[in-house]
Amino acid sequence: MARAEIVVDLDAIQHNVQRLKQHVARPLMAIVKADAYGHGLLPCARACLAGGADMLGVAIIDEALTLRQAGVAAPMMAWLIGPGDRLADAVLADVELSVNATWALEELIAAGQAAGAAPRVHLKADTGLSRAGAVPADWARLVAATARAAAARTVRPVGLWSHLAYADAPDHPTIDRQIGAFKEAVDIAERAGLRGMTKHLANSAATLTRPETWLDMVRPGIACYGLDPLGGDPAVHGLRPAMTVRAEVALVKRVPAGSGVSYGHEYVTDRETGLALVPIGYAEGIPRNATNVGPVWLGGARRTIRGRVCMDQFVVDVGDDPVRAGDEVLVWGPGTQGEPTAQDWADAVDTIHYELVTRIGGRMTRRYVGGSG
Ligand SMILES: *Cc1c(COP(=O)(O)O)cnc(C)c1O
Repeated sequence: MARAEIVVDLDAIQHNVQRLKQHVARPLMAIVKADAYGHGLLPCARACLAGGADMLGVAIIDEALTLRQAGVAAPMMAWLIGPGDRLADAVLADVELSVNATWALEELIAAGQAAGAAPRVHLKADTGLSRAGAVPADWARLVAATARAAAARTVRPVGLWSHLAYADAPDHPTIDRQIGAFKEAVDIAERAGLRGMTKHLANSAATLTRPETWLDMVRPGIACYGLDPLGGDPAVHGLRPAMTVRAEVALVKRVPAGSGVSYGHEYVTDRETGLALVPIGYAEGIPRNATNVGPVWLGGARRTIRGRVCMDQFVVDVGDDPVRAGDEVLVWGPGTQGEPTAQDWADAVDTIHYELVTRIGGRMTRRYVGGSG
């Protein structure tokens, strides 16, 4: 057992992807960006493919090339392209790329010519998120330029896509508006001659709740890792959280009543008590604002971090319970042994579980369980 580690259950990821595929009964692009949401890019990509993912999605080209270099041959898409990116390398590695603007299309055509291959592109429409994608005023021009390039065989358009602003609030009126705006964008593209494109719109939340967004393919990320984007119990959707964060108590000691605990004495003992020192801190991604609110499972009970979270460590008040150095501390996990979940943590520190799982790491080691290898 390691001092402090992240345990990733690859069988859970495979199961979740299988479950999502059954739910939508159509192609699925599993999103493995940001080191597979902190779960580890390569093993998770393989687990997603073993679960039936048809395609992998990443944000940046480097992530796609890392997968290719490791021998992952599955269809793959990267969408966050900036000036000076390694477009020719991506084209040579058969990575499909998203295009938001005509300048990017031109760069991509040039990169394809340098690489000696026609890049596969997904045109992204901004249907109301105001993040990536072409706004309606620019869409017709982008579509026309792409159709011309396709006729000249300098690009191969394969997809039309967009992203939702409010999918985690399934009744929000912006969802219908975005679906409508996307249909208009698709109509314009089809009239310009871009037919047979794979149309995709749904992230995890929409995959779980809004079938009209599923179209030709869904793009779940967080749900593949077993977390509910709507903040509820993932088991309701048949999903199993894949990540457990655990550490071993480094030291236990008795202190008298009135002892100030950790920097700034934000916790003061009100009786003689036992304090357990846990050897992970904000350098590992434990939020500093978990001070006096972060939940852990230790010595058979739920307890709360006491005093400030430090860079390398935090303290838990264990009262008179027989906790010893070396005992296991579960920070978050699936919740099946009484431990807090990443959602419990998100509620306690006022963020989303996405941020917690992607940030956890630092000096912790990662260990995989399950998986076919
Ligand atoms: C991250 C991302 C997704 C996946 O989102 P989840 O909420 O994790 O399912 C899908 N599409 C795009 C464009 C993304 O950036």
